[in-house]
Amino acid sequence: MDYPLILGGLEVRTLEKLEILSPYDNSLIGKVSIATDEIIDHALENVRISFDDTRDLSAIHREHILNKAKDLLHERSEEFSRTITQEMGKTIQESRGEVSRALETLKLSAALLREPLGEVIPFDSAPNATDKWGFYKRFPSGPVLAITPFNFPLNLAMHKIGPAIAAGNPIILKPASKTSITGILLGKLLIDAGYPRKAINVLPGPGGIIGDRLVSDDRIKVVTFTGSAEVGKAIVKKAGLKHIAMELGSNSAVIVMSDSDILHAANRIIKGAMALAGQVCISVQRVYAELPIYEKLVELLTLAAKNIKLGDPLNEQTEMGPMISEADAKRTDGLIQEAVSLGAEITTGGKHNGTLFQPTVLINVPQHAKIIQTEAFAPIVVINKISDLNEGIALVNDSKFGLQAGIFTRDINSAHTAFKKIDVGGVIINDVPTFRADIMPYGGIKDSGLGREGPRYAIEHMTYIKVCAIHNSDYE
Ligand code: NAP
Repeated sequence: MDYPLILGGLEVRTLEKLEILSPYDNSLIGKVSIATDEIIDHALENVRISFDDTRDLSAIHREHILNKAKDLLHERSEEFSRTITQEMGKTIQESRGEVSRALETLKLSAALLREPLGEVIPFDSAPNATDKWGFYKRFPSGPVLAITPFNFPLNLAMHKIGPAIAAGNPIILKPASKTSITGILLGKLLIDAGYPRKAINVLPGPGGIIGDRLVSDDRIKVVTFTGSAEVGKAIVKKAGLKHIAMELGSNSAVIVMSDSDILHAANRIIKGAMALAGQVCISVQRVYAELPIYEKLVELLTLAAKNIKLGDPLNEQTEMGPMISEADAKRTDGLIQEAVSLGAEITTGGKHNGTLFQPTVLINVPQHAKIIQTEAFAPIVVINKISDLNEGIALVNDSKFGLQAGIFTRDINSAHTAFKKIDVGGVIINDVPTFRADIMPYGGIKDSGLGREGPRYAIEHMTYIKVCAIHNSDYE
């Protein structure tokens, strides 16, 4: 099928196409029009002009649009789920989970319209302002450029689009090339939901080319990016004076203490490490287990990894689908080879057939190995020994990333120490760092990013504060 791009709410076809291939069997899923220079300029004009329309929509109107988008997504949920699975390769069950999450994100975005976006300032408490009263209110910042990754093509776009609509901003979405069809379906959904047409632009194309042009243009006022640290840092350099939000990568870790419920820990860790074939920004990559339970945990995780059913992601019985590309499977192979050359042992997995990578467990991996220090983004989990909590915290913190971390323990003091001392944006107690609810503030520190998502927090970088101070001579 030949998919158009979306320019100012209109379906437009161009001559140059992106071929979207299945990561499972390399079959052609569809062709998507690539945005030309002229189209990019047109989209930038659309968002500049349509800001006058979107900023004037009343809160109740924006709430209706978000609720309508939610109803339409509910109706189209199976179409979205199948498209995500075909393009991205996650299992159909995982795609249905993503669609449910996107519905929740829309619900949370709509709910923001019932909340006060400002507060009264007690001016008369300031010695030079006893004759004033006033307040501040948030106003939409202007056109939002949303750049999204391949792994959650719907919900991570919704975490930008939902708050942008709630704020009253026009949108340009630049979806990941490999999952552009989902981006187009999302653009059509927004048109049908009734957001002003010119304010809806979905521009597929190679990030290094079209992304560069969009990021540096002054008509864009907000850049909200989710993707790798490498690309995120390059965008920050080019963006100039704009509101910026960066949701970047990680090599997330979890500590397992000997007082924890080890069966629960193993059950959660295997899911956290292998969901989406490990291609989740908060995938469990590193496990630091206390000595008394170390052998048992390795045994449980090895067995669980061996039992995962790998295969066609559209098959309802499949538990793990392919990686996004064969190049990524080969990159993963390289990480494993390096770890083994440094003395690591593979307890299960380690091989791949094309993009299908066996769930892999590694032990005794030196802390300086690349499989520990860089983001693996693959179905791999490393389990290393620790002698106590302090050693575990030091190893978790020995990372350039800081997105989320987890700890399994029954001891409230250990949980509290981990919360206080681990340098990340979220500490998950008795569950894996892979846990995320769309309502919570989500994001990282260090190379994992800037700012927080979750509609209530994302709206802060899509709006600016304007103060109103009113002189009243009666107060004198
Ligand atoms: P990526 O390679 O960084 O690409 C992300 C997006 O940026 C894509 O749309 C890409 O377009 C675009 N892009 C590439 N170069 C660009 C440039 N110079 N200027 C502007 N845009 C550019 O990431 P990915 O491989 O799609 O996704 C995996 C990464 O995302 C991992 O590092 C993962 O941890 C991270 N991630 C983070 C979160 C979070 O919430 N913290 C969530 C999910 C994923 P093309 O596709 O055309 O290259």
